[in-house]
Amino acid sequence: MSVTFDTDLFVIGGGSGGVRAARIAAGHGARVMLAEEYRLGGTCVIRGCVPKKLMVYASRFTEEFEDAAGFGWEIGHPTFDWARLKQRRDAEVARLEGIYTRNLAGSGVEVVAERATIEDPHTVRLGSSGRLIRAEKILIAVGASPSNEPAIPGSEFSIDSNGVFELESQPERILVVGGGYIAVEFAGVFAGLGSRTTLLHRGDRLLRGFDDEIRDALGEAYAKRMDLRLNRTVERLDRDGDAIRATLSDGETLSVDCVLGATGRRPNVAGLGLEKVGITTKPNGAIPVDAFSKTSVPSIYAVGDVTGRASLTPVAIREGHAFADTVFGGKPWCVDHRLIPTAVFSTPEIGVVGHNEDVARQCFGDIDVYRSSFRPMKATLSGRDERMLMKVLVDKASDRVVGVHVLGHDAGEIIQAVGIAVTMGATKADFDRTIAVHPTAGEELVTMR
Ligand code: NDP
Repeated sequence: MSVTFDTDLFVIGGGSGGVRAARIAAGHGARVMLAEEYRLGGTCVIRGCVPKKLMVYASRFTEEFEDAAGFGWEIGHPTFDWARLKQRRDAEVARLEGIYTRNLAGSGVEVVAERATIEDPHTVRLGSSGRLIRAEKILIAVGASPSNEPAIPGSEFSIDSNGVFELESQPERILVVGGGYIAVEFAGVFAGLGSRTTLLHRGDRLLRGFDDEIRDALGEAYAKRMDLRLNRTVERLDRDGDAIRATLSDGETLSVDCVLGATGRRPNVAGLGLEKVGITTKPNGAIPVDAFSKTSVPSIYAVGDVTGRASLTPVAIREGHAFADTVFGGKPWCVDHRLIPTAVFSTPEIGVVGHNEDVARQCFGDIDVYRSSFRPMKATLSGRDERMLMKVLVDKASDRVVGVHVLGHDAGEIIQAVGIAVTMGATKADFDRTIAVHPTAGEELVTMR
């Protein structure tokens, strides 16, 4: 019996993973529909990586202005206009959203500006109209959202990372709660822009999972830039006139203008209809998938943050691409999640590829650790009290570089290039025979002996 479908692929979610999958599948000749209930571009473009990085840039001018004096400049008293930054940032996001919209249309993807839910293994229901669409394959690419659980009394007085992009004015005093990417990045942004910033984390170091020496160095740098409080939690929040009073686990209270909760994200699976097709999520809400992003239902796939594999935009993009090539392009391949270069846009910035020192020791036993901590050249004239830290971890048996860690200026840019070498399986001897680019910070990576 032949079954007629309305479309070959129905993608739920117009973020990084969904859009890439839709365009590549359409390029392979598939008929593709994509539903997005909010704005095309998803977390990364609309309320994540892109607007965040623009704010990171804004926040770093403060140090540039200060440092300029050491190079002969007289800057005067720079002032910062939050509303102007917001307006220009939002306009850039809208421009990118327009590009996403045009690219999808240009690829022949039919975009439906509605919420879609799963009805059965080959059917989705569109929210407002209730229209049913029959699809040969369904791709779930609905992402994740800030969760901030468990809620504490008064948590309604706090904002999450989405709320940062809606703030109409700059908080004079802000409390950021959490020690992951988002808390660390936004604490750096607010401190750089001049808000009196407290970063409060329940653990004894920021950024669990990163190399301990990098975590220590970041902690030291942050303690100079803001009020860093470790080993503490927030017990409750109360309104106190125009301010918010935070009661901490050590009994202290803090009065601030804004509280940003950044204690984690959860996949957006609520109300998606997974129970109708028998897909059971993991305790953290993530949809289990195989190496080809297939769920337990053969016609339904999932990519990106909703699968909880590595919640990073470039990973979602590759998962979407691999899915489309595999299912519609006749070229099966899957994403290797073992080696993912990543950056944290803290100030100072962090770039990492491969294992941290503890994990490298567990995996390889005997490793060589090359380390360089140095004052960056620019700091000589600026007089800024800062250091860069770089580590190269080498498996002794094979001489392969199994981890590179950078903290300092342009760490993200540096690690992207080093990531190629490490992905190719570069050895320490390969690093050693690479001629340095002088004078740069990155040359340290090829001159460590
Ligand atoms: P993370 O999971 O990275 O961090 C959550 C933080 O909140 C941890 O420090 C955690 O502490 C803490 N926490 C969790 N629960 C509680 C609680 N109940 N009370 C107090 N603290 C708590 O989440 P994020 O939201 O920061 O980021 C989500 C993901 O988004 C990241 O993992 C990353 O993949 C991605 N991302 C990537 C960026 C980039 O590439 N530059 C930027 C932003 C996000 P503990 O460590 O003790 O568990």
